[in-house]
Amino acid sequence: MEIANKIQTIRKKNGLTQKEFAEKLFVTRQAVTRWESGETTPTIDTLKKMVDIFKVDTCDLLGTICQSCTAELCELDNLGLNKDKSVNIDYCKYCFVDGNLLPVTFDEMMDGYEEYFDNPTPEGKEKFRQQLASLKRWRDNQSKGEFKMNKRDCIACSMPMEKVEDFAGGDTSKNYCFHCAKQDGTMKTYAEVLEGSMAWGMENFTLMGFETQPTETELRKALESHMATLPAWKK
Ligand SMILES: [Zn+2]
Ligand SMILES: [Zn+2]
Repeated sequence: MEIANKIQTIRKKNGLTQKEFAEKLFVTRQAVTRWESGETTPTIDTLKKMVDIFKVDTCDLLGTICQSCTAELCELDNLGLNKDKSVNIDYCKYCFVDGNLLPVTFDEMMDGYEEYFDNPTPEGKEKFRQQLASLKRWRDNQSKGEFKMNKRDCIACSMPMEKVEDFAGGDTSKNYCFHCAKQDGTMKTYAEVLEGSMAWGMENFTLMGFETQPTETELRKALESHMATLPAWKK
């Protein structure tokens, strides 16, 4: 059950109208309406109040595990937070920071598991792999065939960086490519990378998922939505 439904259940169980419920939590009635419709989530402080006032079991209120790393989510303080400090019910505070999912790949999560458990058994590893693959973050990536970053993809344009020359200034410690670097070696701005990708996109439009030559507007739109998924520009 999603938190929207859970909040509504708590309110109804206590026989309160949205207005009464809102007053107890020092929020507006509109805020309650938005939570219950799933439009927004409460802030961490409001959730804490809710738990206190209505004697809610936090494990019941929250999901079971982080949908990125499998960490337990029974404690409010372990929840990831959005930029406005509202909670993200799906992810833990280590995976979801300030409104963003940390850019890691599935393989890096597996590597992390091996480091953490220092020589896990092959069975343990396989069990973790299956559990990870069932989580929202990775399940969606796999089933929809969405774009998935590799360790060495440019964070600004997603170009795979295979040779030393592909990296900005030939520096393999950089996480952006030479196309995305300015003269002085710093990373280009969003607008600059977008403009730089237009010419490439026109020539390689099939790689962008177009069957025929797109218009400039169509290509720009496709590039913008692709760039929105990249670590450098993710909001
Ligand atoms: Zn997590
Ligand atoms: Zn790049």
